[in-house]
Amino acid sequence: MHVVRWDEITRKKSNGGLGVKKLAQQNLALLAKWWWRFGKDKEALWVKVIKGKYGLDANCWLPYIRVSGSSSRIWRDICSLDSPSSRLVYSIRDSFRAQVNSGDATMFWEHVWLGESALKEDYPRLFSLSTQKEVLISTLRTAGSWDLLFRRDMFGREKQEMENLKARLQLVVLNPLKPDSLQWRWTGDGIFPVKSAYAQWELQNHSSCTLLGSLWKNLAPPKVEIFAWMAVKERAVTRSVLLSRNLINDIHLALCPLCSLHLETHQHLFLHCHFSWNVWSIILDWWNIKWVCPISVPDLAQWWFTNGFFNLEKYVWEICFYATLWSLWLVRNDTIFNNSSKQAWEVGDLVITRVAMWIKAKFDIKVYSIEEFKIFLDGVRKLRV
Ligand SMILES: [Zn+2]
Repeated sequence: MHVVRWDEITRKKSNGGLGVKKLAQQNLALLAKWWWRFGKDKEALWVKVIKGKYGLDANCWLPYIRVSGSSSRIWRDICSLDSPSSRLVYSIRDSFRAQVNSGDATMFWEHVWLGESALKEDYPRLFSLSTQKEVLISTLRTAGSWDLLFRRDMFGREKQEMENLKARLQLVVLNPLKPDSLQWRWTGDGIFPVKSAYAQWELQNHSSCTLLGSLWKNLAPPKVEIFAWMAVKERAVTRSVLLSRNLINDIHLALCPLCSLHLETHQHLFLHCHFSWNVWSIILDWWNIKWVCPISVPDLAQWWFTNGFFNLEKYVWEICFYATLWSLWLVRNDTIFNNSSKQAWEVGDLVITRVAMWIKAKFDIKVYSIEEFKIFLDGVRKLRV
């Protein structure tokens, strides 16, 4: 039974997912690496062989398929990253740009080197008038000026575009001693890492989720943090979920095991059941905090994690959230599967015990016993009184 969609699981943790890599996208990111190698290792034998075999322009920075002729399956797969049907989401071709130095390997109109797109896209009118459509930058630069040629005089808007282009070109400084090179646009140093190609897909496909992203604090054991993530997403497998999926067919079997009065919905089990409410109240009394029971677990989490505590107090306060949710879930399971029952105050004590255990384990504190540590926590909590 799937309770969370794979698409949600494969999101970054800061985007509300579990951070599991999506293999299909990772494969595309690995294919993108070949685009990088193709432009970066221009002198490599394999690049020359490919260009020779498929009749590609010797100056091209990036792979492309010629309209005529057949290609190998591997080469087609690599080039397909550029196709509109690619699941890469963003344009791989626009993700690279030429770093111009000597200008000997970069085409003035065709390649992306000045700004975010090729000059032929920025100035389509000028490009259509140009008689040097495939010229290299170094060829146009003579005696410190730009030797641009057009098939006729310019009028009105064309003149304005030309002035704009000239202003941009004034900022360009060539270095004849250094060859041009390829840059990846999305990293500060221009170097291509596979993880950046993957991250770019994530960035353009999903937005950040502050609440779910803030749950990963490494405060509680991983399985507890994952459970808290499911609880805040309202995806824990309660009996009402089983009922809605026809996995149980008697409504009496879908009642809350802690009170046997109401349907075991997510909100009831974790908040509104009088038993659960009592447990939260015990923990909040321990903190000397008066509260109004929120409507939902996401609302509770929102309130809990924007509390204004600092330092050790904040640490213990936040860990209480995980420990309380987890303890409620365990006592619920114990009631169902082991037919055992507990009082709310016993669960409250278990919550504090778990908080003490997790902090001791995280910082590898062996000197104090759990009971001694609970007294220490009491001291932390009393700072507020
Ligand atoms: Zn109940």
